Amino acid sequence: MSDVKIYKSCPYVKKCGACHIGDRTYEEELAQKKQQVETYIKKYCPVTDMVGMYYPYHYRNKVHAVFGRIKDEVVAGAYEEGTHRIIPIKNCLIEDAQASKIIETVTDLIKSFKIWIYNEDTCRGLMRHILIRKGMSTKQIMVVIVTAGSRFPHKNNFVAKLRSLHPEITTIVQNINDQDTTMVLGEKNKVLYGTGYIEDVLCGLRFRISPSSFYQINSAQAQVLYKKAIQAAALTGTETVIDAYCGIGTIGMAMAAKAKRVFGIELNSDAVRDARANAKRNNIANIRFVAGDATEYMTQMSENGEHADVVVLDPPRSGSTEAFVKAAASIAPKRIIYISCNPETLGRDLEWFQKAGYRAVRAEGVDMFAFTNHVETVVLIQRKGT
Ligand code: SAH
Repeated sequence: MSDVKIYKSCPYVKKCGACHIGDRTYEEELAQKKQQVETYIKKYCPVTDMVGMYYPYHYRNKVHAVFGRIKDEVVAGAYEEGTHRIIPIKNCLIEDAQASKIIETVTDLIKSFKIWIYNEDTCRGLMRHILIRKGMSTKQIMVVIVTAGSRFPHKNNFVAKLRSLHPEITTIVQNINDQDTTMVLGEKNKVLYGTGYIEDVLCGLRFRISPSSFYQINSAQAQVLYKKAIQAAALTGTETVIDAYCGIGTIGMAMAAKAKRVFGIELNSDAVRDARANAKRNNIANIRFVAGDATEYMTQMSENGEHADVVVLDPPRSGSTEAFVKAAASIAPKRIIYISCNPETLGRDLEWFQKAGYRAVRAEGVDMFAFTNHVETVVLIQRKGT
């Protein structure tokens, strides 16, 4: 449990809107987050206290900034909430501090190399965003520079200078996003230095992470979360496990040693490529990854007369779907472990699980996002009558 008695202040908090530092103490926040989960979940099962972070600052291992101009200055920062006005941000209190420094350096280099900043209104210019990902355990750092076109003026000198100023960077990628979109990353990556991905160690396993693959942004708390999911799964070594919405395979791989076999299902093909490489890297032979829709996969299993003992699902904020719940029920798992980052959609989905013959047993909260309103919960769901 955290004992955070120092309350830091941030000059951008009211405008940036990414966090709510200063509004309440961390202890109050944890209590409020538990209440938030209870609002949606209490009628299904008991809710435990939130497991807080030991040090709730600088925890984000993925840091993003948009480039812009204020008068003649090149700046990097965030859009003011609800607008397209950029607020330059330095030393964000929840982002990794090393990443913030690298963003400052890249901004200075863009200025000194006189490279054009992309203008969202005119759709002209080149430099759009910067994304940094850091392996908190390996200390590997990836810098992704998002450009509107495939050109990169002074590329070699730019990369050499950036590396000399930050020898801690292990890979640099140019991502090309030529669409008029609010998405940060485009589809094409050019590796400018290193391997094009970073690695991190989580639950004793080594994972490769590509620019667009989903990876929990708080590595320390992700391990707490996964341990709770593994405990809830109560594996004995004989089970077939489905890891639905599996990303780069972290949860399924962390369970594989205690299961007979695991199938990870994921839509994003880059993440699936990472997941397969990750299984190899960790010598895990009893896991298979499938690129596709989790609902379709389980429906197909059921049509083939197959079943699973445990289904783990970790969907995006929009939650799951009724079709998914029906497909999961059709392969008759005894236990379902629902990892949710949105208590509201979780509540809606638990109603569907109840209708499909399942009951929630307990909900455990793990705080992954201090000073924000995001709430993560693990729920153990069991087939009625088991
Ligand atoms: N369990 C992983 C990733 C969770 S994020 C982890 O903890 O790291 C949710 C993932 O679901 C994303 O990688 C997204 O690409 C994937 N996804 C979204 N809709 C999906 C669907 N219908 N079928 C399979 N995967 C899906």
